[in-house]
Amino acid sequence: MGVLEVPAPSYQDEEITLLDEAFARFLEQEIAPDYEDFVTAGSVSREAWKKTGDGGFLCPAIPEAYGGAGGTFAHEAAIIHRLGVDGFDHFGIALHSAIVAPYILHYGSEDQKKRWLPGLVSGDLVGAIAMTEPGAGSDLQGVKTTARKDGNHYVINGSKTFITNGQLANLIIVVAKTDPAQGAKGISLFVVETEQVDGFKRGRNLDKLGLKGNDTSELFFEDVRVPADALIGAEEGRGFYQLMEQLPQERLLVACQAMAAIERALMVTIDYVKERKAFGKSILDFQNTQFKLAEVKTEATIGRVFVNDCIQRHIEGKLDSVTASMAKYWTTDLQCKVMDECLQLHGGYGYMNEYPIARLYADARVQRIYAGTNEIMKVLIARSL
Ligand SMILES: Cc1cc2nc3c(=O)[nH]c(=O)nc-3n(C[C@H](O)[C@H](O)[C@H](O)COP(=O)(O)OP(=O)(O)OC[C@H]3O[C@@H](n4cnc5c(N)ncnc54)[C@H](O)[C@@H]3O)c2cc1C
Repeated sequence: MGVLEVPAPSYQDEEITLLDEAFARFLEQEIAPDYEDFVTAGSVSREAWKKTGDGGFLCPAIPEAYGGAGGTFAHEAAIIHRLGVDGFDHFGIALHSAIVAPYILHYGSEDQKKRWLPGLVSGDLVGAIAMTEPGAGSDLQGVKTTARKDGNHYVINGSKTFITNGQLANLIIVVAKTDPAQGAKGISLFVVETEQVDGFKRGRNLDKLGLKGNDTSELFFEDVRVPADALIGAEEGRGFYQLMEQLPQERLLVACQAMAAIERALMVTIDYVKERKAFGKSILDFQNTQFKLAEVKTEATIGRVFVNDCIQRHIEGKLDSVTASMAKYWTTDLQCKVMDECLQLHGGYGYMNEYPIARLYADARVQRIYAGTNEIMKVLIARSL
């Protein structure tokens, strides 16, 4: 795999290799020309989402019956890896394809799957998931958003924050309390199709340290009426369990993003230190540079082998929550450490936004925070001791 000496994992078959090559070409031809504009604008355009859907690169693991390619997590991992290695990771495809769509696939009724999945695959629908609130992040049981049953409808009230794809999303999975008196057992998930409802408002596109091209928003729900069958699953009160079941995939996905970013950082840094000269030799000729990059390459290799194993286990349905938490916390800690070392080897140029390492450094920081903070990962791992 690229700059690392790791044998291709068994799930990396010919089909995955072809998908990877096709997606790399697509990114270069269709996304690269506008990508810097997206970063400046704070959001990828709706046209880019549509083109990506038309190209067959959204939701590749969704079965053919619902418009997808019928792939596995290996397909998702290939897409995530290519986005990261080629430097397009402000495009929030991973969340759309591998977090939002699976809730509908795994817990939706046949009718719900037919209603929503084809649109997510084609890019006509852009997905988001709204869990976090101003007063509840790590402690999801504390969400205050409510969904009150009213005849054949639910009425949703509350506000969410930090929601990825929040400016563009027109299909939002909302975490709400159907029984505010209860903790986990009172939580349910709803699909809100933003164009079909009144009372839904988007706040600002939040100004972030990194991931500038990925819109992140506050969302407000004021007496938003959704039909009763917007509830995901057959009964109320299943939301927290659905979240807990799907979070391992979300955490693995973040680990995949971390490893791709590390690989990219290693590539751009090796190129840079070979070119740049000081004291009559290239920066790579200093033993300190060689040792630092030897360490990065070694740790990246360890991370890659671990994450490949997690992907394989996940494809087989055997990835447990503790191991996924380990992968998320360890690879994202490593990512931040690697970005710091690689930036240092660039000297002052590393601090300049025109050099890829500066963006990689800024983008890395959030990886330790979202999808469950790394402290929460350790809480989960510690429960297994
Ligand atoms: C760019 C970005 C994109 C995001 N995208 C989404 C999205 O699409 N959808 C969504 O719902 N959310 C999203 N989030 C929110 C993200 O998941 C939360 O920020 C995260 O879960 C942490 O919650 P919090 O910010 O409220 O921090 P808090 O929960 O207030 O945590 C503050 C600090 O306390 C620590 N802490 C909390 N509890 C414990 C504990 N039990 N033990 C030890 N330490 C603890 C935390 O680790 C952290 O260091 C996003 C956030 C960002 C920044």
